[in-house]
Amino acid sequence: MIGLVELLQALVRIPSPNPPGDTRAIAAYIAGVMRDAGCAVTTPSPEQKQEAVNVIAVVGSGDPVIMLHAHIDTVPIDANERMKWSTDPYAAVVQESRVYGKGSVDDKAPLASMMRAVLHAAETPEALRGTLVLVAAAEEEVGGRLGTRWLADNGYLPQCDFIIVGEQTFNRVATAHKGVMRATIRTTGRSVHATNPDRGVNAITAMARIVLALEGYHRRLSERVHPMVGVPTCNVGVIRGGSTANAVPDTCEIFLDRRMIPGENPEVVQQEMIEVVTSTAVDPAEAWIGDFLLSDWYSSTVDSPLAQSFLACVRDELGAEPGPVGYLPGSDAKHLKGIVRGEMVIFGPGSYEVAHGFDEYVEIAELQATASILRRFVDATLFTG
Ligand SMILES: [Zn+2]
Repeated sequence: MIGLVELLQALVRIPSPNPPGDTRAIAAYIAGVMRDAGCAVTTPSPEQKQEAVNVIAVVGSGDPVIMLHAHIDTVPIDANERMKWSTDPYAAVVQESRVYGKGSVDDKAPLASMMRAVLHAAETPEALRGTLVLVAAAEEEVGGRLGTRWLADNGYLPQCDFIIVGEQTFNRVATAHKGVMRATIRTTGRSVHATNPDRGVNAITAMARIVLALEGYHRRLSERVHPMVGVPTCNVGVIRGGSTANAVPDTCEIFLDRRMIPGENPEVVQQEMIEVVTSTAVDPAEAWIGDFLLSDWYSSTVDSPLAQSFLACVRDELGAEPGPVGYLPGSDAKHLKGIVRGEMVIFGPGSYEVAHGFDEYVEIAELQATASILRRFVDATLFTG
């Protein structure tokens, strides 16, 4: 079997930045490794984006069904970031007991660990009591709609008793992440020459009132607290309006990011945002809110025997409390809610704070712990005699 670090290096050396999100090369590599080990492998991709190839590798049959999920795309590297890298981001250089490279921790470290766990199971398939499914998914970095969501909606994924979604949790077991609601707000006024602004209607002034109302809304949200992921938030990230200092601007727009905690109903959240806008006095300007874009939250319990067994494997390996903890960024877990009849956790080495930036790395010792935990878990749950 290919070594863990060697496997991670091979994965990093096949670039898979998204955009553009072409995962054909890395998917072909993963599919080849898993097929050679005797897994049943499929490589589906959606009609709308045929170069976004996913890999599904299955070993064993029957219950329980356990899924190991990681994404194979990475964020892209722009020219600015490329200059900051100390190594070639696709060389997978080993330095200071770390593997450096784009995707080294997000998400090829969990992926390599998961591949090794499935390869281990595939060595003695006749002794396996249950099904182990590896999903190497495209499109996570752009929301997963044509990746994991597409796989789940089109019948490519089985109902699972336990799912591990590989992301960066310092090898702790995360059971919740926030969701996001994006929106656009536009104010419309009337443009006149700035020599007599009172004859016009200033769209920026109107928007200023809405921005302050949104700040108040953000403060009120802190009364809602989730034990794992904290409070919901509302952030105005972009404002655009006007064209010159000597005219009254007739349009202004802002882009909002509203983070939802598990349990918040997206329809209610949308209604709250609409109310903030409609209850703010901007007359005679007009205000509009729309372009709502939802990325759902996720949360799970860890009560089942499978989840408890996984927590025990983490505890035994780390000699520390495994969690559960929260995970601040989003993940593909939100797309898997419909295929999990048991429970689902997020787990993997490293920190999301070193992902998505220059000199991304994974500590080799942490990577080895991830792989060891997954192997223990496979042994404990699928090789039970
Ligand atoms: Zn990731």
